[in-house]
Amino acid sequence: MIRNLAWLQHAACAGMDVRAFFSSGHHARAQVNEARRVCATCPVQTQCAAWAIETGERWGVWGGMSQKQLREKRRRFTSRAKTSTTAPSSRKRKRQPAKCGTRSGYQKHLREKTEICGPCRQANTDADNRLRRTGTTKASV
Ligand code: SF4
Ligand SMILES: [Zn+2]
Repeated sequence: MIRNLAWLQHAACAGMDVRAFFSSGHHARAQVNEARRVCATCPVQTQCAAWAIETGERWGVWGGMSQKQLREKRRRFTSRAKTSTTAPSSRKRKRQPAKCGTRSGYQKHLREKTEICGPCRQANTDADNRLRRTGTTKASV
């Protein structure tokens, strides 16, 4: 992953005591708020937030977000990334065009409200008959 960290030069928190940004325990809330006040004035807040999300930072205040907000945001970010990259291909893989002369071809005609062709009608009838005879629509040879 190529990361340009040039934005860090402009960080409002540069040179600051980082404890406020990585606080935990008793005074955490006050310190987190203090850190976020610094972020609010930071010119690179957007880059900082994006960087923290993409690199999976779990701890501390980044881009004006508490670590809880950051985790929440990343959860949405990664689930969106997942749905946009993996889902379409797996959906595509599953959806094979139904061939005519099969029961799924017949169902496709029904779904798409197209005229049911002879082979599909026949296949459906055959499947129905098989179902009555054998309890399954699967063709047995
Ligand atoms: S947004 Fe906050 S944590 Fe990020 S660089 Fe700026 S001051 Fe630092
Ligand atoms: Zn057909």
